[in-house]
Amino acid sequence: MKKFTQLNLSKEFLENLNSLNYKEMTKIQEESLPFSLDGKDLIAKAKTGSGKTLAFSLPIVNKLDVKKFKIQALVLTPTRELANQVASEIRKTSRHIHNVKVLTLCGGTPFKPQVASLSHGAHIIVATAGRLLQHIHESNLDLSNIEIVVLDEADKMLDMGFYDDIMKVLENLPQKKQTLLFSATYEDNIKKLTSSIMKEAIFIEDQTIE
Ligand code: ADP
Ligand code: MG
Repeated sequence: MKKFTQLNLSKEFLENLNSLNYKEMTKIQEESLPFSLDGKDLIAKAKTGSGKTLAFSLPIVNKLDVKKFKIQALVLTPTRELANQVASEIRKTSRHIHNVKVLTLCGGTPFKPQVASLSHGAHIIVATAGRLLQHIHESNLDLSNIEIVVLDEADKMLDMGFYDDIMKVLENLPQKKQTLLFSATYEDNIKKLTSSIMKEAIFIEDQTIE
């Protein structure tokens, strides 16, 4: 296994990862981070528990311009529970380095407080597609500065019937951006999605046998 020190990351980042007890990269991190940190589009297939959250949290936080208080990254997840986990991982990844504002926007929680939170601004949004679309329709947020979008657990989102919602969200993002897709499986429905949203994505598969 390779160590995080082999990546092109700042000393602060490496110290933080070390303090979180992240020393060696998991397989999917080792194979995807050199590309994702370099701004490439990526499709990563790896089973649950393989460390996919950090594999996209690092490129997000590394790319962020904290001085610019605009929404620069978006993560779509299938559920509120996952959105909260992702938001917490992103906050951990960035602690002691930047004062990063991460906002979750999910269904099953009151709408109005989310509108109020959005009015105070954020750097990163972690959302479920349906609730995010509601905010987009009400013009509650400015997505024109998004530089990186992540579809986490893409297979699960499609199983839950979010294909159209995902496409509608993506239509509201800038053309020029980095797209990362993470999934435990890679079947026809995902292929259809990736072929319509990414042009020259790198495909990475963790073939570790369970
Ligand atoms: P996945 O999204 O692939 O299901 P997670 O991102 O939730 O997996 O990670 C599973 C667990 O592994 C989490 O508890 C996470 O903190 C831990 N983890 C991730 N990367 C590393 C690493 N490089 N070293 C040690 N633990 C890690
Ligand atoms: Mg995950």
